[in-house]
Amino acid sequence: RVKVNGKNDYMLHSCDMDHIALEKLTIQHEMRRALRNKEFILHYQPQYALASGQIVGMEALVRWRHPERGLVPPGEFIPAAEESGLIVQLGEWVIEEACRQNKEWQNEGLLNIPVSVNLSLRQFTQRKLTSKISEILRKTGLHPRYLELEITESMTMDVERASQYLKELTELGVSISIDDFGTGYSSFHYLKNLPIARLKIDRSFVRDIEQRSSDAAIVAAIISMAHSLQMQVVAEGVETKDQAHFLRSYRCDEMQGYYGSPPLPSTALKELLSEKFNRPALPNYH
Ligand code: C2E
Ligand code: MG
Ligand code: MG
Ligand code: MG
Repeated sequence: RVKVNGKNDYMLHSCDMDHIALEKLTIQHEMRRALRNKEFILHYQPQYALASGQIVGMEALVRWRHPERGLVPPGEFIPAAEESGLIVQLGEWVIEEACRQNKEWQNEGLLNIPVSVNLSLRQFTQRKLTSKISEILRKTGLHPRYLELEITESMTMDVERASQYLKELTELGVSISIDDFGTGYSSFHYLKNLPIARLKIDRSFVRDIEQRSSDAAIVAAIISMAHSLQMQVVAEGVETKDQAHFLRSYRCDEMQGYYGSPPLPSTALKELLSEKFNRPALPNYH
């Protein structure tokens, strides 16, 4: 068994505890501390309209400012947070911080564009979510139209249940997008029946879009289907001007990726938004 004596002090009482399990326990213990000490921060990645090159949205992405390990990316702690259930608490903090920040920037006259937040499965199926979000919107004063929740295809597998949950959420006035679209178990059934505003095409389809005709065909099909269903399409992982132009020629609505901007700390995003009378567009895009 493992005993945790505060700090980073662990005592192993049995050798069958494998390294992975210990690492998980360590990370969960540290995350509880990190939540108390406010070590998590949000970075924001702008989303650009492909037609105009203007910033029309942003995604909030969590990072852990670890006292020893520096800035830790979400891939290294979200899985442990999901497994332990800590994601519920962390996720609530993310939603509240994103709403608070967006409202603050609106008050400063810097923007009137929505912020997107990732939801994990544990959060989505935890039935206090709707009332929690409602409370956060009231507390921060953010109009619900400025909050978008990103879910993944796997969360819609049980269509009946997803439909009920999404109905509750959209009745609040927030909107829903499908993240990493194309990588999960897609069913056309859910697309027809769920209140989804936007599809985010996974970056694996975007990477070789100019070289691989199969990727281009899939992207074209997603865009055409989405538009027929009155949904908007965002391409993820756009890294070059050529990819952006290619996607624009396919009538993709928006892009998010290093070509536009990497995820930025709030201070840097604020600078970017202040630059051009709060309507910043990509330089040399057209
Ligand atoms: P995601 O929601 O698909 O977010 C996009 C990820 O792609 C981000 O990684 C972003 O930095 C990265 N990215 C953006 N543009 C490019 C590009 O042009 N090229 C490449 N190669 N990558 C790009 P990040 O920030 O490390 O986040 C990874 C994942 O962690 C996210 O994927 C999301 O699933 C999860 N995540 C992040 N924040 C949260 C959160 O607050 N809650 C939950 N539940 N999950 C989160
Ligand atoms: Mg996302
Ligand atoms: Mg995701
Ligand atoms: Mg994604």
